[in-house]
Amino acid sequence: APVKTNDGQLTLELDRAHVFHSWSAQGALKPMVIAGGSGCKVWDFDGKELLDFSSQLVNVNIGHQHQGVLDAIKAQLDILTTVGPAFGNLTRGRAADLILDKANQGSEKTHFQKVFFTNGGADANENAIRMARLVTGRDKVLSTYRSYHGNTGSAIVATGDWRRMPNEYATGHVHFFGPYAYRSEFWSTSEEQECERALHHLERVIQSEGSHTIAALLMETVPGTAGIMVPPRGYLAGVRALADKYGIKLIFDEVMAGFGRTGGWFAFQSLAEDGVVTTPDLITFAKGVNSGYIPVGGVVISPEISAAFDEAVFPGGLTYSGHPLAMASIIGALTAMQDEGIVDNAKRIGEDVLGPGLEKLAARHEVIGDVRGLGVFWAMDLVSDRETRTPLPAAKMAELKAKLLSLGMLPFVQENRVHVVPPCIVTDAEVEQALAIYDEALSSL
Ligand code: PLP
Repeated sequence: APVKTNDGQLTLELDRAHVFHSWSAQGALKPMVIAGGSGCKVWDFDGKELLDFSSQLVNVNIGHQHQGVLDAIKAQLDILTTVGPAFGNLTRGRAADLILDKANQGSEKTHFQKVFFTNGGADANENAIRMARLVTGRDKVLSTYRSYHGNTGSAIVATGDWRRMPNEYATGHVHFFGPYAYRSEFWSTSEEQECERALHHLERVIQSEGSHTIAALLMETVPGTAGIMVPPRGYLAGVRALADKYGIKLIFDEVMAGFGRTGGWFAFQSLAEDGVVTTPDLITFAKGVNSGYIPVGGVVISPEISAAFDEAVFPGGLTYSGHPLAMASIIGALTAMQDEGIVDNAKRIGEDVLGPGLEKLAARHEVIGDVRGLGVFWAMDLVSDRETRTPLPAAKMAELKAKLLSLGMLPFVQENRVHVVPPCIVTDAEVEQALAIYDEALSSL
């Protein structure tokens, strides 16, 4: 629980003196200080508590300081805190087995058989891309403009947003537009049309680039940072069909969408249509797999791709691939999520409480142009004019963010959107509290 101490000032002084922050001009930074947390709450050193509807960077799916995960890490501390990646390790094998059990749900039990562990999401994408290039003997990677895939060599160039441009050193990357019905690039007027036209556009990009040059199609199953755009019905299956038609490996980046966020273990399972799951060749994951208690990520690999490296050497590796503390935290997190029905909770909250609650807000506030999402993965797209769908200006968004903070919420504000992304353990009462805060803050605009 929050305790008032004098460490807030010291934290800020040390931070400003010595800590270099991500994606920021360093000079004028004044980061908010977080001293501790529990469940869906965090607090500072002044005893001020905030409802965490950001899950930090949309990764604390199990909530802060879940006892089951802490216990699993503590138990592993007494067994072995580190081991080289070449050795067999029981905790690592068990973590991989659990991940595969989840990845295979809804499809053939043996579809995915192996996991390669990395340090986080970016290097998961990096290695998935490498695998696809090696098995196809092709170079190009197709990904969408509205995407974020991580901050390393290929992953940042696969990324669609502004962060790619100052970092464009890796070669062989081509971008296309994914479906986004609310702001269609294809002049569509329905989800069905958007799907059809987005698939047509993708096929034309494949043909125009030369399908024989394309190793992989990398896509966030539900684009996260770019705006939580749930793909229209038929899109994933359509992309799978194009990948098959042209011999391209399909990579679903489930770093943000995976492990409960969409109300299923993986987003591609949540998006099953008529009971049919569209499976990729490779899944990349990180964040929710252990809620970030220890940095970790990885690649779930199809039998075809893993078999390609039965004889040939896989030219890749990491000192901390399958680090035992990270592995123990995965086992702790996935076991608790399973035993405590945490993924089902995310689904129920999305369907019964959060989704309807956000729709009600949209009915009350002109400024909400669109509400979209599923599970505990939602966005309110804010506009200055509903007719033209003009994004709400940055100054207004900053005002809204400050108001939300002052009302006791840690929000996730991205461009003209508020991403509503609480931990999967969020309760009905916490959602109601959050909806009331959004309501008051939106009214103040
Ligand atoms: N892929 C997606 C979809 C993400 O949202 C992120 C991070 O936000 C990444 C990859 C990169 O993960 P990491 O920051 O762990 O490298």
